[in-house]
Formats: sequence, C-alpha cells, structure tokens
Amino acid sequence: MSTHLSTPIKQLTRVGAITAARLAKLGIGSVLDLLNHYPTRYEDYSARLSTASLSIGALGTMFGTIGSIETKKTAKKHMQLTQAELLDDAGSIRIVWFNQPYITNTIHKGDHVAIAGTVAHDFSGWVLKNPQFEKIEHPADAIHTSRLVPLYPLTGGLTQKQVRFLVHQALQAAHEMPDILPKKLTEHLELIATQTAIQNIHLPKDAAAYLAARKRLGFEELFIVQLLTERARKNLTQERAPKIPFNETATKKLVASLPFDLTADQRKAAWKILQDMEQGIPMNRLVQGEVGSGKTVVAAIAALNAASAGFQTAFMAPTEILALQHYQTIATIFPHHTVALLTSKHARMSGLVIATPLKNGGSNLNVAMEHVNRATDNRRDDKIAAVVNTLPRNDIKKAISDGNVSIIIGTHAIIQHDISFSKLGLIIIDEQHRFGVAQRKQLKDKTANDVPHLLSMTATPIPRSLALTLYGDLDITTIKQMPKGRKPITTRVVDETNRTKAYQFIKQHIAKKEQVFVICPLIEESDSLGVASATAEYEKLRTGVFKETSIGLLHGKLKSAEKEHIMSAFKSGEILILVATAVVEVGVDVPAATIMIIEGADRFGLSQLHQFRGRVGRSDRQSYCFLFTDSTSPETHNRLQKFVHAKDGFEIAELDLSLRGPGKMYGTEQSGRFTDLKIASLADGALLEKTKEAAQALLKEDPELKECPLLLSELERQSRELHFE
Ligand code: ADP
Ligand code: MG
Repeated sequence: MSTHLSTPIKQLTRVGAITAARLAKLGIGSVLDLLNHYPTRYEDYSARLSTASLSIGALGTMFGTIGSIETKKTAKKHMQLTQAELLDDAGSIRIVWFNQPYITNTIHKGDHVAIAGTVAHDFSGWVLKNPQFEKIEHPADAIHTSRLVPLYPLTGGLTQKQVRFLVHQALQAAHEMPDILPKKLTEHLELIATQTAIQNIHLPKDAAAYLAARKRLGFEELFIVQLLTERARKNLTQERAPKIPFNETATKKLVASLPFDLTADQRKAAWKILQDMEQGIPMNRLVQGEVGSGKTVVAAIAALNAASAGFQTAFMAPTEILALQHYQTIATIFPHHTVALLTSKHARMSGLVIATPLKNGGSNLNVAMEHVNRATDNRRDDKIAAVVNTLPRNDIKKAISDGNVSIIIGTHAIIQHDISFSKLGLIIIDEQHRFGVAQRKQLKDKTANDVPHLLSMTATPIPRSLALTLYGDLDITTIKQMPKGRKPITTRVVDETNRTKAYQFIKQHIAKKEQVFVICPLIEESDSLGVASATAEYEKLRTGVFKETSIGLLHGKLKSAEKEHIMSAFKSGEILILVATAVVEVGVDVPAATIMIIEGADRFGLSQLHQFRGRVGRSDRQSYCFLFTDSTSPETHNRLQKFVHAKDGFEIAELDLSLRGPGKMYGTEQSGRFTDLKIASLADGALLEKTKEAAQALLKEDPELKECPLLLSELERQSRELHFE
C-alpha cells in the first residue's frame, strides 16, 4: 500500500481503533498530521559501544546476538525481572529490564539486536539497565537505537516506540510535502528543502542534519506569523473607520477639570491617539504604561472626543472590580455624557439621565430619556441627576442600542455576548493581554458601521522581540513617566523570622491612616480562586496581631454587592487592611494605600508581582512592598532579588519572558496565535528580525502573493484557524 500525505492514520500498519483514538487526542488524523508532529528532544545513541572497552556512563548502542534471555519474578518486591546476555565480537554484557516481561515475547536467544542505553557497573559486573532495543540485521535500519532517536510529545497509552514506528512509515510520503517558501528566499538564506527538513527533524542522520532542519522549519514558522501580522496590519488600513475630529474645547475643559496636571508622556500618548482617530482608518494602538502612570485619563480623553463626535465608546476591563472603579472614575469626569456600567452582575447608568421615581408601569428609563430629550442643551446642565442605580438591565441595553449612552463600561464577558451598539466608534481594552484576538474581532463585528477604533492599554509591557511579532499589527505608545511627586517603592524580601518586625512596621503606618494590602496566593489546586488561603489569612490577622484594626477580605467568590461594599470601605479608609486574592492584581486604585504585603511571593510571576506592587505608590507618600516567602530555594531567592532590583516594568517583563516564556506571561488566549510554534522561539530576537524583514520584503515585491500560491493558501488556512483580525 502506498502512503500519501492525505492517507488516514488508520491505514498505517499497526494502527487500530484504540491507537487511532489516542493519536486523535494529539490532533493526528492523517499522515500529514503525523509528519507535522515534531519531536521535542532526541536521545543520542549514535556512539557505537563494544564490550571490548566499557566505561561507566558511556551512552550509545551495542550490536550483537542474544545469548540468553528469561523473565523471573523477584521474591520480595513482586517485580518482574528480565535478564539477558548480549554477545558481541569481543565478549558479553548483562542486560536487565524491570517490569517489562513482554520483552521475552519479542526477543529470543540467537536474535540479532541493537541495544541502546548507558553502561553501568554493579556488584555483578558490567550491565545495561532498561536499555532501548530493536531487532535488526543492519545498523543502518535502526529507528530506536544507534542514532539520534526522537522523543515525541505523547498522550496516555502511546509509546515512543509506537510513534516512531508510525513516523517511519509516514516519512515515505515526506517527498510530497509542499515547499511553500519562495525559492529565491530559501536560496538566499540557505534553507534546505521542506522534504529534507521533515525527514531530518524526525530522524536526523546527525546533529548537523538536525540543525539544518530546525533552521528551515523554525524560519518558516515565524515567517508565517510575520506575514500574518503584516497582512493584518495592511488589511486594517484598507478598512474604513469613523473620522473623529479633535475637539479642542472639550478636551481642554476636561484636562482643566482634573485635580492634577498631565505628565508629558500622558499628553503625548493622548495626542497620538487623537491623531489616529482623525484618520479614516481604524486605529489599532496599544498604550503600554508603567503601572500607576495614569493610563485611565488618557483613555478618558479618547472617549470624550468620540462622544463629542457622536460616537459610542465601549470600555472593557478584565475584572468586575476594575470595571466598577472605571465606571466611578469616568462618570465623575464626564457629568455631561451618559455613562453605563454593564457587567454580569451590575447594570447602572449615570450622567445625562434624570432619575424619575416610577409610580406604575412604563420604564423608568423611558421617562428619564424623554426628559433629557426635551431639555435644551443649556438646561441639560442643570438637570443632571447623579446616578440611576435601579434601572433594569434591559432598559440600559436598549438605551445603548438606541444610542442614548455615550460610554459603556463593562467586563469583556458582557460586552461579548449581549449588547448591540448604535454607533460604536471606539473600543478601549484595559489590561490588554487578558483579552484574546478572537474577542477583539467579535466586538468589531458588533457594529454595523465602520470598523471602530481600538485602543488597548497594558501595564505589563511587551518586550521588543514580542512587540515585533505577537503584536506586530499594533502601533505602540509607551508611558514611562510617573505623575509628579511619586517616590520609588521600597521593596524587600522578608523571611519568616522578620514577620513580627514587618507587622510592627505596618502598625506604625496604620496609625498614620495609611492602608495595607495583603495578597494571598493559591495554595491548593482545589482552591482555584485562592479563597481558602485568603480567608485563613484574614482570620489569622483579624483575631491575632491586627485585632484592633479594621480589616476586610476580598475574593472572587464574594457576591458583587459585597465586593463593592468592601472596595468602597477600603477606598474611603474605613477598612485599613485589605486581605485579598489576585482579584486586585490589575488596575485597582486606592491612593492612600502605601504597604503591599505579598504572601507566598514565590508563587507569582514577576510581572504579576509588579502589578501587585503597583497597587501602592499612588500618591506622594513613600510606599513599601514586602515579599514574604518560606521558600529556601536559592533559585527562588535569586528570582525575587532580581525583581527587587529591577528598575521598571520593562525590565521585569524582559526577565519574566526569559524565565517563563510568552505563553504563561500573556495568558493562553493571547498566545493562542502561537500555540502552533513548535520549533521557533519568540525569545529568538535575531530570527524575529530576520523573518520580519523577509516578510516585509516579500509583501513589498508581491503584495497579493501571486507568485506564491502555496504560501498564500497556507496563510489563509492559518488565519482562518486563528481568527486573525
Ligand atoms: P494606571 O496607569 O496604572 O492605569 P491610573 O490611571 O489608575 O494608572 O492612575 C493612577 C493614579 O494616578 C490615579 O489615582 C490617577 O487619578 C492618578 N493620576 C493620573 N495621572 C496623574 C497625574 N498626571 N498627576 C497626578 N496623579 C495622576
Ligand atoms: Mg489601569
């Protein structure tokens, strides 16, 4: 039977229904899929070993004949022990396998075999323990021994040997693999052909062959990513977005009403955004600003201009707590526009709505809107009611779809599903790395008009290498400057012996009405939200060292009203110590808080720690961050010390990227674009630059990729899969 790329995996030798199902779990249904299933590592059994010169720890392969083989049960441990003797030209060596009795069914006395493993010496002499083996006549036929032997990602029930055996069959079709890269490019960059690369990524004949395969396949992977981002960027410039003119009067008025002066970086960022929105093409800008640098007002300025031009803004936050905070901030800044809050728990509205008590029937909102619409512009100012707290959710949704609300604030969950906008002009996404690409697209689809402008904001800056790729379709603006008068936060790693001292320190500051966060980590898997750990800490502090202090507990399992109550009590200073889970990781703004305690600090990523620390240092008072850890690992301490000494979020993001990789750092959703990266690393700056240049050059020469139909169809396939914008 001949094997082709499209051959279903079931048709390969020794694949029954069970094996097929197991392969399906790895996403392997065809020969092509199997060829695209690359090894993660290799075992180097290429050294030839001989009984003539044995040495402890030698790794390699011996060829010979089986002199004897038998399996016995050991008396004590109920273990199955298979013992064999291997004879080669020079002598013999003992082999033992533990708990693999089936080997006696496969290998028999007199068989020619290759045995691969590490040479050891024990009380009864030289031995190979649990080695790899295969029956072969010629060393050249080896798949499992005597070469660089691939090790694959597996799933329950599959063995390396099985997968190797199948890959070996699949490789008969490798010559059919299409070479999708333009010939000019592969020649220029000295990349080997796909067919050879596929052969050599699975069964490399030596290290050089493997490296050449890696170079080729790694280049191709990142090159495709780069082409996708370049094309996404270009597609966007061909779409139409509303032209939102800069409203100088309104902007100046807003800026003047703030209790502070904007920093130069804030001004620059706002200016960039306003210029983007004046163009008729969709903005796709990311503001990455140091935590506490004041991104919210910059976003507010953008929303104001959209509102003055008659467009709606959807402003999304990653948590309900943050959405509520933004709602309060924005509603205060914008008394002249209608602002709504919609999360899965909250629905409220404020601004240009007159709260009319309802007697019977009819909607509160309709009555309110009628008043508003009848009022003249001048009179509106006088008639602004504070907040309409009790409107039914459906009324608010209707007001949004009727265009009666200018700014809609919510969590992404709600905005995703069930609102429609009448004239959505701007989308603001706070803490951008929490949102997936697909969600951004969904939002854009929610409006019948032109494509809305997109402004995203993050305090976890994106290292340059990633910025070029993962976010290559974004324009990036950076806010590094902190508001005037902010002091660097003093950060210390504290061990258990100094806990009492730290508590004394806290007491002194509480006496001055300064406030404290205590963050608790997730300890057990089952406690997925960290509720148990925070509750326990809260009880301990409340009944112990801080029994005279007002102290609150905040976690994700609390009812919304409780969360809101606790947050506002903390904001108003009624609560002085807030014990919390990671729910306060991003965005929460309580300027009077000056001490951040992080329990189990070693359990958090560095960028996460930086976010937590950013909850303090939001006023002109000196702030502190104490990292508690009971870890004794020098590595952990080293990592935490790096955090202590890092100068800013940018350095921390780079550190975190090198320690954890992009997937963990930016969450699965965001790195969803790149789950397919099997070879290339996003930390490989040189390759990133090279692929970027190549992608730009190719698109410049052949924008429609007319000359590269195979490449084009691969791009189209991947962008369908990834819901690329
Ligand atoms: P982040 O960039 O972390 O989102 P916020 O927008 O929450 O920061 O702002 C942090 C705090 O600093 C808020 O209390 C905000 O009112 C205040 N703030 C923002 N800009 C300035 C400024 N230019 N001068 C003083 N305080 C500012
Ligand atoms: Mg923020």
